[in-house]
Amino acid sequence: DRRARRAPAAFLTVQEGCDKFCAFCVVPYTRGAEVSRPSARILAEARALVERGVAEITLLGQNVNAYRDADGQTLAGLVRRLAEIPGLLRLRYTTSHPNDMADDLIAAHAEVPALMPYLHLPVQSGSDRILKAMNRRHTAAHYLGLVERIRAARPDIALSGDFIVGFPGETEADFQDTLALVEAVGYAAAYTFAYSPRPGTPAADRADLAPEVKTDRLLRLQALIDRQQSAFQASMVGRTLPILVEKLGREPGQVAGKSPYLNAVHLDGGPELIGRVVTAKITAARRNSLSARAA
Ligand code: SF4
Repeated sequence: DRRARRAPAAFLTVQEGCDKFCAFCVVPYTRGAEVSRPSARILAEARALVERGVAEITLLGQNVNAYRDADGQTLAGLVRRLAEIPGLLRLRYTTSHPNDMADDLIAAHAEVPALMPYLHLPVQSGSDRILKAMNRRHTAAHYLGLVERIRAARPDIALSGDFIVGFPGETEADFQDTLALVEAVGYAAAYTFAYSPRPGTPAADRADLAPEVKTDRLLRLQALIDRQQSAFQASMVGRTLPILVEKLGREPGQVAGKSPYLNAVHLDGGPELIGRVVTAKITAARRNSLSARAA
């Protein structure tokens, strides 16, 4: 039944494929060139989702911020149109490439209240030498400048990233540059990987680092990210936040939802709260979730 109720948070694919050809990645080969779906169709699908109870939509694309449909609609324009749909309370998008973080999209973070203050913006490395070897086509300074501009637009925005350590040719000095970049940004969360070659990609033919070197760097980076993630979680305690309740919690009499910053939050309540935004005070923080009580 097309009209059956949906969970309050949904994903909507707006873009597929990638033209970036990062040296480690199979996506441009397996998923093909960037294709953006027509914005009129996306808007119609979003309205249909909202009619079925969806209050939050995450726009998905391999390179989502490169979105541009045949009529020239950009991701920022699409976000602004989506934000006009009554009942669509929250918008997010993922995954973004630093080089496609256009000024109009940064401005949308300042001007569109429905656009949530959380951005996944992978950088992969903090070393310009390695970024070049990865064919990322930007420098660490460019990324840090971008973060500064995004935070100027939306000072409370939470950032997450992706990192690959042990890329072919990475020295200890290159790795230190990555740690320095992570220190400079201060992430709410990040996904860290030890490099492993993907057949058919340019980097697969390059000399691989010793596994113990990669593991050692991965553990050191993860320790730093864990500290930042814990600090981010702890910084929420005492704050009063709007929580979109998504489902029943694990304990009886409890529900679970998300803060604007994508923290998982548990609070007391029943199924009638599902799909509603509850104002709640954060009372405790754990590594992966927060506790709250209705304020
Ligand atoms: S890592 Fe992302 S931007 Fe780079 S080629 Fe893969 S999908 Fe494209």
